[in-house]
Amino acid sequence: MNKTFYQTSMMSALIAGLYQGDFTIGQLLEHGDFGIGTFNDLDGEMVVIGDEVYQLTSKGEVHLVDHSITTPFASVVKFEPTIVKEELTDLNRKAFEAMLDQQYAANNAINAIRLTGEFSYVKTRTVPAQQRPYPPMVEVVKHQPIREMEHISGVMIGFKLPDYMTGINVPGYHFHFLSDDRKHGGHVSDFILSQGKFELEVFKDFHLRMPASHEFDQADLHPDDLKAAIHVTES
Ligand SMILES: [Zn+2]
Repeated sequence: MNKTFYQTSMMSALIAGLYQGDFTIGQLLEHGDFGIGTFNDLDGEMVVIGDEVYQLTSKGEVHLVDHSITTPFASVVKFEPTIVKEELTDLNRKAFEAMLDQQYAANNAINAIRLTGEFSYVKTRTVPAQQRPYPPMVEVVKHQPIREMEHISGVMIGFKLPDYMTGINVPGYHFHFLSDDRKHGGHVSDFILSQGKFELEVFKDFHLRMPASHEFDQADLHPDDLKAAIHVTES
């Protein structure tokens, strides 16, 4: 039996301004121990590591969250990497992605990827919490703090998804960073790995859990500018 990539709600729902979820962190953890997402009101970036779920806020804070809070969008897997490549050195984001594209990733399936080590450079950005009436996400990201870190050890957790999942999730590579001291992190824009390893597992089963809300049922989840909107919000 194929193992499952599990997600609640959709990227296009976030683009449509649906920033309140109805799925708890506890429920999410029943479906995986590895993943990324966001929080209600778009209050920061999520990293799932084991049974710990971290919130990386726009103020630069990192904390563990209570399992009773809900998420408007998150994706998880039970991670048991089948491909491990150690002793990577001096690899920037572009070179890393090209290497995976050519040698390791299943480009038409779902790839869960963990990159661990020492980074000479990490650039992150983190969405700030929003209040109703919610502005569109393409506006929100214009005001998000960007952070640059140097010589920091940590882990990048994320996925490479096929282009045909555009809107359902984020196509291409999408990583969230968390430092080893659990004090820094965010949505990854760029990095240079000085030394470390990556681990990868391919998933060929996909479960989409949709929110129960009337708002979700009424939202336009396939607007004409969807691809451009995702590029702006997630690059
Ligand atoms: Zn992200």
